[in-house]
Amino acid sequence: MIQARFITEETAIRVNEHAGTPTYVYDQKSLKKNAEEVLHFPNAFGLTPRFAMKAAPNANILRLFDKMGLSFDASSAFEVKRAMAAGISPSKISLSSQELPEDAGALLELGIEINACSLNQIIKIGKAAPGSKIGLRFNPGLGSGGTNKTNVGGPSSSFGIWHEDLLKVQDTIAQYHLKVIRIHTHIGSGSDPSVWQKVSNMSLDLVRKFPDVIALNLGGGYKVARMPDEIGTDLQKVGSPVKEAFISFKEETGRALSLEIEPGSYLVANACSILTKAQDMTSTGESGFDFIKADMGMTDLLRPSLYAAQHPIIAYPRQKTEKTKNFVVVGHCCESGDLVTPLPDDPEGIGTRELPEIEINDLLVIDGAGAYCSAMSTKNYNSFPEAAEVMLGLEGEIQTIRKRQKLEDIYKNEIQIEL
Ligand SMILES: *Cc1c(COP(=O)(O)O)cnc(C)c1O
Repeated sequence: MIQARFITEETAIRVNEHAGTPTYVYDQKSLKKNAEEVLHFPNAFGLTPRFAMKAAPNANILRLFDKMGLSFDASSAFEVKRAMAAGISPSKISLSSQELPEDAGALLELGIEINACSLNQIIKIGKAAPGSKIGLRFNPGLGSGGTNKTNVGGPSSSFGIWHEDLLKVQDTIAQYHLKVIRIHTHIGSGSDPSVWQKVSNMSLDLVRKFPDVIALNLGGGYKVARMPDEIGTDLQKVGSPVKEAFISFKEETGRALSLEIEPGSYLVANACSILTKAQDMTSTGESGFDFIKADMGMTDLLRPSLYAAQHPIIAYPRQKTEKTKNFVVVGHCCESGDLVTPLPDDPEGIGTRELPEIEINDLLVIDGAGAYCSAMSTKNYNSFPEAAEVMLGLEGEIQTIRKRQKLEDIYKNEIQIEL
């Protein structure tokens, strides 16, 4: 049976005493190790690694990464403001968003870098702040996400400026006297070095069309192995052909480009786990299943329902036993899709996990819950309050970094009218 990444039984008991369940537990040691690896990504002429903060935007994670020297990628103007509220300098934030606010000029004035992600966004920036320096996010026509829902490049993706619109882009740039200093492509390239090589070459071809470009941003999408049988990304391996491509580009054009990368998952996915309890159990008989009902669910971890994502589950039964059973683990929502153990590649299919024969109220750990979990969930569905978040320090100490939400906070914006 698999072991938990960093929540030992002893830690699980302490977190439960400190914060109760369900609770997200971030591990400072893992966060730091991941950040170190990202800071050492191969590069020829300089590197700006950015944390894609939408993966896990708690202020303490941003502050830790800031202290270590990472910059930030925001996916909305709200995220820009959230990062600034956490104390991040505007000069370390770049914005690549599906929805650019009308006051883009105000963001540029603050020192935020903006990557225009559509033709309309170029016009918006041009009107608000003619003559500005901007980045352009392109869809280079190639995609490589794990599933249709995570694919962020190619004809079926709306992200970025379609590569065939180049002439329209150049006209608009000229019209508003904008200066393009960065090309950005984020296609979710995964763990295969040959895909990264192809993407960097396609992106460098776009750089050739813009003589003022000084930086190429290749986005994020470094695949992380959550389950023992999955293959993660070796940053040194995927980065080395990228570095080579930058060197050849310099030899050919005389232009030394700096590299930007924007990992989200890579930095946080395996650095956080959810501590939860088996709050109930049921069985549907001989031809059915044995279910564990956790005290968390799609309100805290949506990825299994959305992508059929597989997360390791570890049980700590108080009554030690050698006996195991194949359990279906479900969440606490009144929703049959609230399944923590879907079949791989099929969010509707019911999968099982071999776990010790646990009892109600035993603790469970769900690993790999750092990226797009706390940040992306059906928060407050069934009026379940947002779970607490704690940080496990370097000496194993536990500190709360987000309080458990109070019930009143869920409905505080409602206004009771005369009926
Ligand atoms: C989401 C996102 C990322 C991070 O993606 P991961 O798969 O978490 O590494 C990077 N850049 C942009 C523009 C994004 O939207």
